[in-house]
Amino acid sequence: MGLLEVIKVSQVIVHHERYAYLLCSRVPLGKHFMVSQDADEITVITTENNAKKVKHKKDIKWFKLFEIRVATPFVSVGFLAAISSAIAAKGLTILMVSTFSKDYVLIHEEETSVAFRALLELGFPVVWKGQNTLVKMSKIHKVGVFAAKNFKKGETVLHFEPKVLTKDQIKALPSDQKKYVSSYKHGKYILQQGPDKYVNHACDPNTKVQNNSDVAIRDIHRGEEITSDYRKDTIQLHHFTCRCRSRNCQRWI
Ligand SMILES: [Zn+2]
Repeated sequence: MGLLEVIKVSQVIVHHERYAYLLCSRVPLGKHFMVSQDADEITVITTENNAKKVKHKKDIKWFKLFEIRVATPFVSVGFLAAISSAIAAKGLTILMVSTFSKDYVLIHEEETSVAFRALLELGFPVVWKGQNTLVKMSKIHKVGVFAAKNFKKGETVLHFEPKVLTKDQIKALPSDQKKYVSSYKHGKYILQQGPDKYVNHACDPNTKVQNNSDVAIRDIHRGEEITSDYRKDTIQLHHFTCRCRSRNCQRWI
């Protein structure tokens, strides 16, 4: 298997929390994501909650964690190098740490979306921890969400927790986040944060929004792209040309 094929069948798992990267003078008590120690230093990587309890030197640096699950361990020459150079090509620095069977990439919190994009463009399917969907490049529009298992009609495909924001809070968002805002009720807006923000519109969709979830409106097979009818679910703030290719496509949303 060539490197690109390996990447396509491997997975990147996005962890929800942010992680602190700490320099400590002794190994802290309790359960931490990772503790690494050499003759001179002790480095601790731990969740936000735990970080408060750990005595450390210097300021806390916050990172998001991508877990990399290689499909063929130890035989994929250049696998980590490919990840590292794709991220470097976007001008970002990364920290890589490995355990016996897993590799992790730590990205500065504010650079997460750029790094995420680099991994998708390299060909990785990305999974949010605990979800049954994959995010990868799509034929409909750049990035899309795909079923990681078969779903029955009526089953929840994706559950999401959108952030409710005021108009002023929306104005203060970085520009790459603004496209994930839609209007909500009583002058409030919602910002999508999870994989749901990558669900593409289709004029003939396979899910509908119900109680902060995308619910299957027909049986969906593993590997199919998950779609939703934007016109029904929220009031869109942005308009675009539709390329969903369904027979009843309205071409313009
Ligand atoms: Zn369409």
